This record gives sequence, structure tokens and C-alpha cells, in this order.
Amino acid sequence: MAASTFRAIPHGLFSLVFPADCRVCETPLDGFTRVPVCLGCLSAPKPLEADYFCASCNAPFQNTFPLDENGVCGLCRSGLLGFDRASSFGFYDGALRSLIHLLKYSGMKPLAPRLSLLMDKALPIDERYDVIVPVPLHWKRRWKRGFNQAELLASEVSRHRGIPISNALRRTKATVNQAGLTSAGRRRNIAGAFAAREGMGLTGKRVLLIDDVFTTGATASACARALKKAGAGHVSLLTLARAERRFT
Ligand SMILES: [Zn+2]
Ligand SMILES: [Zn+2]
Repeated sequence: MAASTFRAIPHGLFSLVFPADCRVCETPLDGFTRVPVCLGCLSAPKPLEADYFCASCNAPFQNTFPLDENGVCGLCRSGLLGFDRASSFGFYDGALRSLIHLLKYSGMKPLAPRLSLLMDKALPIDERYDVIVPVPLHWKRRWKRGFNQAELLASEVSRHRGIPISNALRRTKATVNQAGLTSAGRRRNIAGAFAAREGMGLTGKRVLLIDDVFTTGATASACARALKKAGAGHVSLLTLARAERRFT
């Protein structure tokens, strides 16, 4: 009886019974929505803005000093990144950061389609890809969270773009949480943490690697190395947000 009564409650009443505030800006929501976030906050994320960007990894800079004559930054020149190109929609702050947290830590999976549209906007128009590969979580973390946010975002982009998705990578070791580690520490922590699965047919393929946040790039580098080891010809990274701001 309780269940059918519940279903009969109109949406307007539902929000009266369960009043909700926007989980980002805390203003009261005026209607029932799939996610407790107001329209203003959903449309608040802004694309990356900077005077100059590295032509390869898209790192933002205030002047051209760190870039060489090809517009490429020092980290890319050092070969430390391992991937060939990187793009992100916006900076990992403000509403975008809150929305990513809601998806990742509060399990608001209905946010994924909306956020994936921002990724679509960041995708370079002059590149083509044979396959999309999400950055995997270690199975223990995936099991605890119930999903992999990178996989959710990747499957949306795959659907919009008509590019097949493949879980070609697996995490071979559980790593300690990267937060609080230095950039070099992150690289050491994550090195060799990924391997390509056998028989994924990656030889010569142009791979679009997808993750939610680009922090120091250490995770994506380790993934890119594993993909290249398995024969991938080109690895491009696409993330929703970029935490790193290098200005020198
Ligand atoms: Zn709001
Ligand atoms: Zn760069």
C-alpha cells in the first residue's frame, strides 16, 4: 500500500514532502529534478581560460616563456607525459569541482550525461580516434564506489561520437591515494600500475584515453605507457577538468 501511495504523489508535492536545496549553491530547488542541482549551477562551468596554452598538453600559461618555438612546454619536451596530446574542458574549481565531487563521491550518476557534453566541447576537432579507453579504477575501489566515473563519462562520449569504447586497461596494483603526494611522488606511486589486457587489438590504433580530472598527469602517463607498450600508435587524453595550473 505504501509503495503505490508513494508513486501517486505528483512531482510538485514530492519536493514539498522532501524539500531539497541545490547541493552546490544551497538555494532551494523549485521542482523535482533527477539531480539536486539548480540549472544555474549546472550551466556554471566555464571553459579553460589562459593567455597561452601548450600546443601538446594544453597546460595554461600567462606568457610564452615556457613554450618552445613549436608552442610546446618543458614537461612535454621532457617526454615525461607519455601521451601525445591532452585536452580538458575547464579548471578543477568552483561549480565544476563540486559537480565532479557529486558524481564521484555522492554517486550522482545522472550527472554523467550532462558533464560528458562539456567533454565533447573540449575534444579537438582535428583529430580522429579508433577507440575510447577509460582510465580504470582498481577493482577494490570500483567495488566500493559501485562504478567508475571515468567509464561513465567515456561511454557517453562514445555514444555521441560513435567511437567504440574498450576497457583495454586494467589496474595491476592498488596505489595509495595520490592526494598529498608531490608530482614526482605521484609518478613513482603510479608507475607500472596499469597494463593493457591481452588481445585488445591496439596495434597502430589512435586511442582517446578518458578520465575525470587531470591532476599532475601521472595517472594518464602510466596509462598511456601501457597502451603504447601494447602497440597503440597515438594516445590523446581527454578530461573534464584540469587541476594543474603551471604558470612557469
Ligand atoms: Zn545551485
Ligand atoms: Zn605541454
